[in-house]
Amino acid sequence: MGEAGETGDDRFRDPGSRLWRFAQEILVRCPRCAGRAVVVVHPDHREDQRYAVALLTAPHRLSCPGCGHTDEWSPRPMRPGDRDVYFFGGGSVAVPRLTGPDDPFFGLPLWLRRPCCGGRVLWAYNAAHLELLERYVTARLRERHPWTGSGSMLERLPAWMKAAGNRDEVLAAMRVLRARA
Ligand SMILES: [Zn+2]
Repeated sequence: MGEAGETGDDRFRDPGSRLWRFAQEILVRCPRCAGRAVVVVHPDHREDQRYAVALLTAPHRLSCPGCGHTDEWSPRPMRPGDRDVYFFGGGSVAVPRLTGPDDPFFGLPLWLRRPCCGGRVLWAYNAAHLELLERYVTARLRERHPWTGSGSMLERLPAWMKAAGNRDEVLAAMRVLRARA
């Protein structure tokens, strides 16, 4: 499969990427210095990244190259009312929900987020995520991935991001974010 499946200047084919793939490296605002920090799976649990639920419930680490701040995150035990739960041999834990504009693990503001289109917030987990969003919104002709159903990250985008009338404003916000990615 080619990189992001591009077929021409105005045509774009959905590569079928799932959002959790982009959650493997999440840029956040450091709670100590407000600089750019990164959230990744804890180095001791790298082998847990192959499946979505394993990635999302693996211990994570926050680190800030600017000020040296670090923090650790572990999944909490299941509670009544949890919508997504992962059962395994040792018990059951809540699965973080993959959303924005805060990171799913520490709840910190994403580094790549910006108000857009009247009350909406444009956000991306990292530069690769932002780049794919930008290429998608830029394209005039969008082709679905043949076998992802409705599960791809792009197919799950909110309608306001796909609306032709918002295209220029969304792209302008993306350019601002790209400059700081
Ligand atoms: Zn910092």
